[in-house]
Amino acid sequence: MNTQIEVANNIEKIKAELNGRARLLAATKTVPPEMINFAIDCGIDLIGENRVNELLEKYPFINRSRTEIHFIGALQTNKVKYIIDKVDMIQSVDRESLALEIERQAAKHNLVMPILAEINIGKEETKSGIAPEEAARFCGFLQSLPHLKLKGLMAIPPKCEKNRNNGEYFCKMQKIFIDISHQNVDNSIMDILSLGMSDDYLSAVENGSNLVRVGSAIFGKRNYN
Ligand SMILES: *Cc1c(COP(=O)(O)O)cnc(C)c1O
Repeated sequence: MNTQIEVANNIEKIKAELNGRARLLAATKTVPPEMINFAIDCGIDLIGENRVNELLEKYPFINRSRTEIHFIGALQTNKVKYIIDKVDMIQSVDRESLALEIERQAAKHNLVMPILAEINIGKEETKSGIAPEEAARFCGFLQSLPHLKLKGLMAIPPKCEKNRNNGEYFCKMQKIFIDISHQNVDNSIMDILSLGMSDDYLSAVENGSNLVRVGSAIFGKRNYN
């Protein structure tokens, strides 16, 4: 895990590289609340957590006055109820049963939850997400649920060897994103394309991403103990 000075420098460097082209989400899994709050003091206004239990543990200690929290990880249907009133967006909506449970819980809390549809752009069997050819139909389904607000798409492309970038997958995602946002059935605004992590955020932005999710390039290597 990096020191505060390193974290501050990394945030400044990444923001300069992005140069306003994409929003920077700090992926904060395994990062303690004190360091998250330091990153917020350095100008981070959006964090992403991907485990429900970890989010619930850290939630009371995170300075939320100027910061949005997105859920970005695999989400079990039976855990939606714990986060429905704590997150500003769920980026990882990858199946109908999950969407229906978010709809149910959001209705119960009398709120509308912004979401992204997660696309399995590499068609990997081990990865969650909707197959690219199913994306349009799935988005139509999401838009039919009154307590969900479909804001765009997210994807985690296959891990590839260093030096070979994910441009091909990013490019495919951009095409799907443009197609779907143009065939909008209602007037919900789909304007978020969440693509790119520490190793490839610049390539993602060159291919139309406007929200990058960066963890280790800010906080250093994760320690899972
Ligand atoms: C951990 C994580 C990231 C950030 O990964 P890094 O390689 O550390 O930048 C982005 N998106 C999701 C969904 C993650 O779980």
